[in-house]
Amino acid sequence: MLKQFVTNNHQFRPADPEYRQVYLINGMLLGMVVIFSFFFFANLAFFALYSIALLDFIGAALAVTILRRFQLSNNVRQGAHHTVLLLGAFLLAYLYFAAPDFYSLYWLCIFPPLAFFLLGRGRGLVATILFMGLLTLLMAWRSVSWPEDSFTVESLLNVIFASVCLVLLVHYYEVSRSDVFRALATQHRQLQRLSVTDTLTGMYNRSKLDDILSQEIARSIRHQSPFSVILADLDFFKSVNDNFGHMAGDQVLMSFAGIMLQHCRELDVAGRWGGEEFLIICPHTDLAGAKLLAERIRMAVANYDFPHGKQLTVSLGIASFMRDDDASTILKRADDALYRAKGKGRNRVEM
Ligand code: GH3
Ligand code: MG
Ligand code: MG
Repeated sequence: MLKQFVTNNHQFRPADPEYRQVYLINGMLLGMVVIFSFFFFANLAFFALYSIALLDFIGAALAVTILRRFQLSNNVRQGAHHTVLLLGAFLLAYLYFAAPDFYSLYWLCIFPPLAFFLLGRGRGLVATILFMGLLTLLMAWRSVSWPEDSFTVESLLNVIFASVCLVLLVHYYEVSRSDVFRALATQHRQLQRLSVTDTLTGMYNRSKLDDILSQEIARSIRHQSPFSVILADLDFFKSVNDNFGHMAGDQVLMSFAGIMLQHCRELDVAGRWGGEEFLIICPHTDLAGAKLLAERIRMAVANYDFPHGKQLTVSLGIASFMRDDDASTILKRADDALYRAKGKGRNRVEM
């Protein structure tokens, strides 16, 4: 019920950037309705302060009007402006009547955080300057000096309540800020994962493989240590699609990805290079070591029962890093080797 109210009947959700502002606008306006109504009755019934009671009545009516309008329009910018305006006017009126007494001036400290939170940096600053300016005029006009009365129970209450409001507002500001940061950080992690992942197999995608390959080349040059790449391409894969459909083809690709990941060593990085071609980058591995791994994968595929019950084979081409290699030259050698493997009858490893 309350949640429905403060979110404008669920028009705003926690992930929305304005969510916390909507919450606060509704909360502030509701608070003002309650406070104005309370003082309206109190001033009318107990203190016979009719002019102030009239102001309270106007304040309550304005707060209800703004609240209703905001709940119907969902216009956060407008709601924020009206709320800040009403609170500013309310504070100025209150200070006008009560400033010399009870340390009431202390209340002005809640205006800046509210204005900045609801209006943003620029408009918040303008509103604060306007508010402070009007307040200074008011004080000059009424010749009010910062508190001139003695400290009383009312002064203590004013200081305590205003401080509590200030702390709550600043705390709320911080909560809202960290909400947004947390949401952004989560989205950032998700996007980062997505940006390096092949959606079908869940392996690294080509762009990530490109990055790793460049790093590996740089590392190899710096430390003069070997590394190798293996390019793997399923044999006659097109016939799987043609005979069993594209979905079956996808299933085979996922199974093949699983086989590769299962046989790679901890330091090896495997990913989908494109279509039914996969690349494995093997750090600290010479040609012989890469051939061992490639053979293991070739045998595993040949012995694997793929989902549609058909046997498949894979051809693999290997290249090791040589001086003066860049990404394209080492990949070209692996691709040439793969092409030779296909030419020599498939289900083979060539280098
Ligand atoms: P070869 O032994 O010479 O490699 O024969 P092949 O049929 O495997 O080679 P080709 O490159 O002609 O065919 C590759 C096929 O892979 C064609 C394409 O439809 C299919 N393919 C590429 N990506 C996907 C995919 O994501 N899902 C499915 N199901 N098929 C794909
Ligand atoms: Mg193929
Ligand atoms: Mg191919």
